[in-house]
Amino acid sequence: MYCGIIIVIFAALFLGIQVIVFRRFIAQRLKEKEYLQQSYKQLLEEEESLKHEKGKVEERIGGQFLFYDVTRKIAPLLDRKDLFSVFSEGIKDFDIDEISFHTPLSGSDHLEFQLGSDPSNIMSVKTRSKKGIEYLPLFAKLLGLCLERINLYEKLQQLSIYDTLTEVHNRRYFLQRLFEEFERAKKSNLNLSFLMADIDHFKKINDTYGHLVGDVVLREIAQSMKGNIREIDFVARYGGEEFSIILPDTDRAGAILVAERISTLISQKKIKAFDETVSVTVSVGVAAYPENTVHPDVLIEIADKALYKAKTSGRSRVGWF
Ligand code: GH3
Ligand code: MG
Ligand code: MG
Repeated sequence: MYCGIIIVIFAALFLGIQVIVFRRFIAQRLKEKEYLQQSYKQLLEEEESLKHEKGKVEERIGGQFLFYDVTRKIAPLLDRKDLFSVFSEGIKDFDIDEISFHTPLSGSDHLEFQLGSDPSNIMSVKTRSKKGIEYLPLFAKLLGLCLERINLYEKLQQLSIYDTLTEVHNRRYFLQRLFEEFERAKKSNLNLSFLMADIDHFKKINDTYGHLVGDVVLREIAQSMKGNIREIDFVARYGGEEFSIILPDTDRAGAILVAERISTLISQKKIKAFDETVSVTVSVGVAAYPENTVHPDVLIEIADKALYKAKTSGRSRVGWF
């Protein structure tokens, strides 16, 4: 009996605790639900207000929208011709009657704008539209910036394909061209020759006269090679005092003649550098497609070996296989 009372008390306590815990749990869930509901409501409200704001932004930039549109179209362009044509097309809606770049339009009823820092870059426009007149100064500034960016891009391109000291093409560009010319020769069933020229004992020139004189010699040699080949031929600085020449549509016999002509011409040249007058000779290796090989990589290898042959057999001469 006594034991039964204790069990009932414990059971009541246990149940009581359970009820308290459960109620707390329910209360917490209800709070969470309420919180979630509130947040959701807030989100909906925010979305509404965003929609509203967006509308306002669109409304506010309505007039300027076209300006941004044109900017977006012309900003990535890297060609000035494209720049002017895409721009002219883009501003059609500004009621422009006539537009010209570089040459001013005839008559006095046109507006003229300088584009960028170069006074020869102008934009001449005829328009009676208020909107056109309002936006033209902005457009002129924008075009000026685009032109300056294109100028920089072109300079960068020049720098990336030319050797700055000798002002002939660099090795990277030469390799690209060699493969292109090779493909062209293959496709059109034409010959292609390649010369590798190296200045003889050039180290001695540097040691005797100094590097600055050496630099002038390099430049002069490169320029005289460039001046003594055809328009379609292509000279590049392959390395320190080595030059490579691509001779399209030229067979091995023709390439040997060109190499000998260049070698003789250089040996007769008196190069003035500061207070010095210097003479140098070159050795040249010849390789020809298809006589020597049908692979462009091997063409370079053969020209290299032919050059070595010219060096070991006395220098100032032409080697071939
Ligand atoms: P070889 O007849 O066997 O070709 O002898 P070399 O002295 O011409 O050949 P070597 O390879 O021993 O030396 C080439 C020299 O060219 C060494 C290097 O200092 C010089 N050189 C490379 N690039 C330049 C440059 O841009 N300016 C100057 N002044 N010298 C350079
Ligand atoms: Mg050398
Ligand atoms: Mg060398």
